[in-house]
Amino acid sequence: MKIAILSRNESLYSTRRLKEAGEARGHQVDIIDTLHCYMDITSSNPKVRYMGKDLPQYDAVIPRIGSSITFYGTAVVRQFEMMGTFCVNESVAISRSRDKLRSLQLLSRKGIGLPRTGFASKPDKIRDLLRNVGGAPCVIKLLEGTQGIGVVLAETNKAAESVIEAFMGLKANILVQEYIEEAKGADLRCFVVGDKVVAAMKRQAPEGEFRSNLHRGGAAKLVRLTKDERATALKAAKAMGLNVCGVDILQSNNGPVVMEVNSSPGLEGIEVATHKDVAGLIYEFIEKNAKPHRNRTRGIG
Ligand code: ADP
Ligand code: MG
Repeated sequence: MKIAILSRNESLYSTRRLKEAGEARGHQVDIIDTLHCYMDITSSNPKVRYMGKDLPQYDAVIPRIGSSITFYGTAVVRQFEMMGTFCVNESVAISRSRDKLRSLQLLSRKGIGLPRTGFASKPDKIRDLLRNVGGAPCVIKLLEGTQGIGVVLAETNKAAESVIEAFMGLKANILVQEYIEEAKGADLRCFVVGDKVVAAMKRQAPEGEFRSNLHRGGAAKLVRLTKDERATALKAAKAMGLNVCGVDILQSNNGPVVMEVNSSPGLEGIEVATHKDVAGLIYEFIEKNAKPHRNRTRGIG
């Protein structure tokens, strides 16, 4: 098959692994720099232009859209959808996963376990909002943060109030969330491909840190999920409409709760921790599912 990886950086581990794994399975794999794509969106014959030429008709596109280019990146994915190209994750699903509030509302609608979470835009509602999530300690999050940046643990109500006020003063959109203390600085990254959790790891925050992100120095190891954790991850992926994603779960006293769903999950941490060929499994999914006009949105919405 002819497959394009949309990625800004061909030297990233995930991008390199995806190219390698695809070629090892006999595919032609091109790495396309998302920001160098441009297009005539009104043409009745939609195409993507790249380096002065029309890109060929690919059988599948693997979008690896970084959170700093969500807006442009999803527009490029949408253009491929308009061409009828099978996109491993659809543009709308990527956009919804980037907004933590929108994601939690969707997950909540499907009855998926979540940390108690509140949202407000006015500082005069802070006290009641805090009370509703059970008071301090609580976690305050920027809606579009990533890699642990913009996630703050407030240990007292006073600290929580001042952090919330400061963020609101900057006109930043935030969530206030119950702190799942019993997770002890660890979370589960469940890597979903199609309708399976193909690999899972437990990430542990370093001493003195509550955020388990690998970018914040977290350590990862292989973990065996319970039936409940596995079912929660699959339900979350389905609710988000993502075929390939990383579902992050906290082990709470009330069972698994989903923190977020990542539409471009990194391959390095999970492949190293689990020794699984996750990239290869993504191609297995593509080989089974990539047919023209298979995307549900067809670039609309
Ligand atoms: P990001 O998108 O920046 O990764 P997350 O919501 O995933 O933001 O939070 C980063 C990390 O902070 C998580 O991996 C987890 O370890 C910790 N964390 C986030 N929310 C909570 C919470 N409600 N309770 C306990 N720990 C949390
Ligand atoms: Mg995270």
